[in-house]
Amino acid sequence: MYGKDHYIDGTFSAGSGNRTGAVFNPSTGEEIYRCNYANKATVDQTVKAAAAAGRKWARQSQARRVQVIFKMRELVLANTDAIARTIGLEHGKTIDDAKGEIGRAVEALEFATNAAQVTKGEYSCNVGGGIDTYSIRQPVGVVGCIAPFNFPAMVPLMMGSMAVAVGNAVVLKPSERVPGASALISELWQQAGLPDGVWNVVNGDAEVVDAMLEHPGIAAISFVGSTRVGEYIYQKGCAHNKRVAAYTGGKNHMVVMPDADLEAAAAAFVSAAYGSASQRCMAISLLVAVGEETASKLRDLVVPMVRKLRVGAYDDTTADFGPVVTAAAKKTVEDAIQRAVAEGAELVVDGSAAGADKPGFYVGASLVDHVTVDMQMWKEEIFGPVRGLMRVKSLDEAIEVVNAHEYGNGAVIFTRSGQAGQRFCADVEAGMLGVNVPVPVPVGHHNFGGLRRSKFGDAHMFGPDAARFYTKMKTISQRWPEPDAQEERALSFAFP
Ligand code: NAD
Repeated sequence: MYGKDHYIDGTFSAGSGNRTGAVFNPSTGEEIYRCNYANKATVDQTVKAAAAAGRKWARQSQARRVQVIFKMRELVLANTDAIARTIGLEHGKTIDDAKGEIGRAVEALEFATNAAQVTKGEYSCNVGGGIDTYSIRQPVGVVGCIAPFNFPAMVPLMMGSMAVAVGNAVVLKPSERVPGASALISELWQQAGLPDGVWNVVNGDAEVVDAMLEHPGIAAISFVGSTRVGEYIYQKGCAHNKRVAAYTGGKNHMVVMPDADLEAAAAAFVSAAYGSASQRCMAISLLVAVGEETASKLRDLVVPMVRKLRVGAYDDTTADFGPVVTAAAKKTVEDAIQRAVAEGAELVVDGSAAGADKPGFYVGASLVDHVTVDMQMWKEEIFGPVRGLMRVKSLDEAIEVVNAHEYGNGAVIFTRSGQAGQRFCADVEAGMLGVNVPVPVPVGHHNFGGLRRSKFGDAHMFGPDAARFYTKMKTISQRWPEPDAQEERALSFAFP
C-alpha cells in the first residue's frame, strides 16, 4: 500500500520507529491502513542520506538536473489517473478536483525547468583595481518540506520541484492523513532518473517535524499548513538557524459591488467557496455584498445554487464535492453552524444533515447570512463547507472588514469599475488579489503567498522567488594581476 512506509535513499522502509497512525478513506469512514511514523533516528538517517546524495546532485550540470525535471513532468502527466485516485481515496476530493491539483503540480515542474535562468548570477567588471565582482547562487543543501493534507500532490511537488532543480536534496514530511500520493511521487522521481537520496519522504506527525526542525543537517524549511502550526515552525526553525518559509491559514473575502455582473459573481462565489468541500486555503469564505440591494439580489441567486450542491464519494462523478477529511473536521463544521446561529446569524441553507445516512465524513453545503465581524463565523478559518454572507454599506467599509481580519491570504472584488478594482488592489492587505477572478492563485511563474498571519518569513517558495529561497548567495571579488605587478606586494592598512 502506497504511503505505509518512508522513502529513504531510494528504498521504501518502515524505519526504526514503533508508532503508527491510521489513514482513512473519508468517503467510507474506514481505516485503509496504518502508516509507519518515523522516530528521531529515522529522521537522522534520512537527513544524512539526503546530505550525501545532495552533495553529488549539486555537482551535476544544470542541464542534467533539468532533464530529470522534464522527465518527471512526463511521468506525472502519464500517471495522472493513479495519482488522482490515491488523492481521492485518502483525502476525499473528487477525481476531477484531484486532476486539477495535479495540473498545478505539473505547472510547478514546468517552471522548475527554468532553474538555470532564475538562478543566474550577477557580474561587474573592474569594480576597481582590476577586480571583478560576481555573485553566484548555490543550493542550500537539505531542504525539509512539511505539507498539509489538502493538496497531497500539489504542495509536495510545488515545494520540491524547484528545490531539487536548483540542486538541493529534499526530506518531505507529508500530512499523516494523506501519505499515499507522496509515496507514488517518490517512485516517479526514481523513474525520472533522480539519483537515490535526493528525494526522501518521512511519515509521521509533530514528533517528526520537531526532529526535522532540530536537525543541524537541514538548512531550510518549507511549510504549508495552519497558522497555529506554521507560527511554531517558523519560530523554532529560525531558532535553529534555518531559513523558513511558512504559508498558513486564510479567510478569503469576496467583495461584490452593486455594478458587478451579479449572476457571474454568484456562480463564481459558489464554485470558489464550496469546491473541494471548502478545504482550500484560497477558498472564498465570505461573500461581502456592498449595499442591501446587492445583498438581497446575490442571496436570491446564490441560495438555490447552494441547495443544489451534492456531496458524494470521491469517485462519484455526479458529486460536486467530497467528504471532509476526518470525523473531527465534520464535527468542526457542524459546531461552527450551531455557533453562528447562537451568535445571531441566519442559517439560510443547512447542509449538516446531508450524507447523514452514509458512513463517510460527509457534510453538505451550508450558508449563513448577516455575519458580522464580532462572530466566530467571521474570525475563524473553517475548513469545511459552511460559508457566510456579510452586508456592508460601501467599498471603504468592505476594505475595512477585509483588512481587520488577522489573515491576508487572498481577497477578490467583483465590479465593472476599474477605479474600484484599482483601489481594492492598492488598499487591501492580502498577498493574492483578484478582480473578477474568484480564486486568484497565480500561475507557476508568478510568486504565490499571503500577507499578515497567512505567511511567516519574507520569502516566497513557489514561483520565481522560490529559486532565491532554495539557494544561498556568494559574492566573489577576484583579481588576476600580472605576475610582476609590484603594487600587490605593498602593505596597506586603510579600509579598502
Ligand atoms: P496542519 O497545520 O494541521 O498540518 C500541516 C503539517 O504540520 C502536517 O504535515 C502536520 O503533520 C504538521 N503538524 C500538525 N501539527 C503539528 C504540530 N503541533 N507541530 C508540528 N507539526 C505539526 O494543517 P492541515 O490541517 O494539514 O492543512 C490545512 C491548513 O493548511 C489550513 O489552515 C489551510 O489554510 C492551510 N493551507 C495553507 C496554504 C497556503 O498556501 N497558505 C495552502 C494549503 C493549506
